[in-house]
Amino acid sequence: GRQLNGLQKAVKLEDVHFGYDPNKEILHGVSISVNKGQSVALVGPTGSGKTTIMNLLNRFYDVNSGKVTFDGIDVRDIQLKFLRDNVGIVLQDSVLFSGTIADNIRYGKPNASMEEVIDAAKQANIHDFIESLPEGYETEVNDASSVFSTGQKQLVSIARTILTNPDFLILDEATSNVDTVTEEKIQKAMDAVIAGRTSFVIAHRLKTILNSNKIVVLKDGNVIEEGSHHDL
Ligand code: ATP
Repeated sequence: GRQLNGLQKAVKLEDVHFGYDPNKEILHGVSISVNKGQSVALVGPTGSGKTTIMNLLNRFYDVNSGKVTFDGIDVRDIQLKFLRDNVGIVLQDSVLFSGTIADNIRYGKPNASMEEVIDAAKQANIHDFIESLPEGYETEVNDASSVFSTGQKQLVSIARTILTNPDFLILDEATSNVDTVTEEKIQKAMDAVIAGRTSFVIAHRLKTILNSNKIVVLKDGNVIEEGSHHDL
């Protein structure tokens, strides 16, 4: 595999056809491009192919035809370790691992200092909540019996990603009923993690959509509209 020079940080899908089952095509020639530091919001009804596009960007699957490129280099020619190190993923249902909350935040960078952990938590808007716990950053967590709500877990996941400082970001915005305070915190944390990173966001909030540089509307595995929110 090749190393990227890391200078362009652009990502492209070019006429991508893909199906999980080779006999059932899901994406029917999808083309999307994102320039360095820009964010694209993927929107569309359930089953339209948003998660599938994320799966291809992560190279959990390979395209049937067309290509996915980072800085013009086919993702199939890029070292998987490079991808894993440089593409940050924040999932809708973020998972906490057993261990302390500090360990959870430094998961992708085990040698991170406490200062770095706290700085990431502050940027992700979860520091105050952690500090409010009797044992603070040393609070033991496991996903099953957690004091963290879904929204708070997503904030921890955002802190994790901020700490590893990836150039590229794939983010599936949490939707599940979060209260308005957490909602606002998520919005700010998202702004912090997206800033300066070439980002693909499965966007569920209008604000997120309006804040993105480009909106791509998917339907049944096709891009049916594309542009800024001024154009659409
Ligand atoms: P949602 O908003 O519900 O998350 P989505 O836009 O992300 O939907 P996808 O999850 O990409 O849509 O699904 C697109 C199509 O691919 C659907 O028909 C779905 O059933 C199918 N699909 C998704 N994941 C798999 C899989 N792992 N194996 C087989 N088919 C799948």
